[in-house]
Amino acid sequence: MKTAIAGGGIGGLAAALALARSGQPVELFEKAVEFHEAGAGIQLGPNATRLLKAWGLHGALQACSFSPEQLQVRDAASGKVLSKLTLGKAMAEHYGSPYVTLHRADLHGLLLQAVRQTAAVLHTGAAVQSFWQTPHSLFLQTGQGAKDADVLVGADGLWSSSRQQLLNDGMPQLTGHLAYRALVCQAALPLHLRSQDVTAWLGRNMHAVSYPVRGGEWLNMVVFVHGAVPDDFQNWNHTANAADLKNTLAGSCTALHELLDSVTDWRLWVMHDRPPLQSASQMAQGRVALLGDAAHPMRPYLAQGAGMAIEDAAALAAALSKAALHNIPAALQRYAANRWQRNARVQARAMRNGQIFHAKGVTRWGRDVAMRLLGEKLLDMPWLYATRP
Ligand SMILES: Cc1cc2nc3c(=O)[nH]c(=O)nc-3n(C[C@H](O)[C@H](O)[C@H](O)COP(=O)(O)OP(=O)(O)OC[C@H]3O[C@@H](n4cnc5c(N)ncnc54)[C@H](O)[C@@H]3O)c2cc1C
Repeated sequence: MKTAIAGGGIGGLAAALALARSGQPVELFEKAVEFHEAGAGIQLGPNATRLLKAWGLHGALQACSFSPEQLQVRDAASGKVLSKLTLGKAMAEHYGSPYVTLHRADLHGLLLQAVRQTAAVLHTGAAVQSFWQTPHSLFLQTGQGAKDADVLVGADGLWSSSRQQLLNDGMPQLTGHLAYRALVCQAALPLHLRSQDVTAWLGRNMHAVSYPVRGGEWLNMVVFVHGAVPDDFQNWNHTANAADLKNTLAGSCTALHELLDSVTDWRLWVMHDRPPLQSASQMAQGRVALLGDAAHPMRPYLAQGAGMAIEDAAALAAALSKAALHNIPAALQRYAANRWQRNARVQARAMRNGQIFHAKGVTRWGRDVAMRLLGEKLLDMPWLYATRP
């Protein structure tokens, strides 16, 4: 059974690895001329690190990731701690796998290296442009010519053309939220700003998150604010927009401002998403399955987009490993049936988190009281971290 994968991001590489490890022939087609991963940091919960460990990546993950001691939730205006969740060793023991933070290029790099050690065939500069499927066959048109395969996995991200062809359900929508991302060298920070923790700062119509990456040498910063796409987005001038960001966060505490001031180079992301999945047929039809952001783009307010892509990859490999050539569509339906509700729940919860994090007035007051009273019970999520795909 030949599987073709469109897209070599975290989701596509995870799928290639899971399939190749289960002995299936895989060809991956990446549009870009080189494999790369844009952006800065990423958090992975035990649900995702458990799968990476099962794929033999424990050592590689440990070597490039950081295990934060705790999650601290602070009020962005006063700087006061609202609640805490112990991470580190305690969480690793409780869930059988750690909560880690890392640079996304390091995660992408370790997956790529692992895939290169398998029999999977990798192509770059090879966009999957279109596909044709019948009940018995599948053909792809790629930037490097036509190909036949038994299965196509659309792991081509937020703007997935595989999804457009399969579902024809329009483009992702603007969320009205912008993400400012940056990396700061911890050694260059004053001692009181250096951190071993994940810190979330919650404010009106904004929140910021910081955590260590690259073995703790760098601090990843991301600030989410409400705002329209800047007119000069294509030629984005980070200096001018850093001033906009500071103005937007004018009422924030000194520590947060000091952190913002330490950044010399912000990168801006305009956030898009789609409504939560509503049925299994949105994840697979016939011989084509969708995975990761192509299937269920989500707001990053639960830090699980890549985690869900990794879970999808494991579930897909499990479904296909039991399938015979004549029942591929049924195997892909099993994959979709297994995955869509969990992905929809995570998409919905991420959206709700955004509303709670950015709340004002009475909602904000209720949130803060609940955080203080319930503490870890509110922040820990066994339904998310303990589940195996
Ligand atoms: C600000 C921010 C913070 C985030 N933080 C977290 C976090 O802490 N934890 C977490 O788990 N997730 C996080 N996420 C989400 C996570 O980054 C994504 O969910 C994840 O990277 C999606 O991976 P993917 O492989 O599905 O898609 P992508 O990473 O978009 O990869 C798609 C790949 O397909 C290629 N491609 C596109 N079209 C084609 C084509 N036609 N043919 C072939 N190749 C094609 C692209 O070049 C790309 O390499 C965050 C996202 C954002 C924006």
